[in-house]
Formats: sequence, C-alpha cells, structure tokens
Amino acid sequence: MGIRLLFIILTLWGIYIIVRRYLARFSESDRRRENNAADNMVQCKVCNTYLPEAEALTKDGDFFCSEAHLIARHDKD
Ligand SMILES: [Zn+2]
Repeated sequence: MGIRLLFIILTLWGIYIIVRRYLARFSESDRRRENNAADNMVQCKVCNTYLPEAEALTKDGDFFCSEAHLIARHDKD
C-alpha cells in the first residue's frame, strides 16, 4: 500500500515537471514572437502606414503595406 502510494506520488510529480517545462517553453516562445513583431515595424513608402516587417512587401529596400502601393510606387518612378 505504502509503495503504491509512493509510486503514484512520483508519477504525478513527473507529470507536473513535464507540464511545467512545456508551459514555460511555450510562453517563452510566445513572448519572443511578440517582441520581434514590435521591434520590426516598417513604414509604407506610399501611405506612411506602419506595419510589421513580416507583413510588409519590399522592393529596392523600400517597404509597402500592399501590392497596390508597391505597384503605385513603381509606376511613379
Ligand atoms: Zn501603403
């Protein structure tokens, strides 16, 4: 009886450690992603809207919020 109880406690403790480690890693990568999005804001060359670099279109080192603005800028030059 006593050994079985000890085994159950150890099993639950192991699960607790694994879950804690998993949750810590998950929240850490989440935080990192938010920081990256905040750090890499770029400005559309046409309408001056700020947007995350990941969502922006680039051409010749300039950033654009949409394909329409990329084309608009390209036609002007
Ligand atoms: Zn734009």
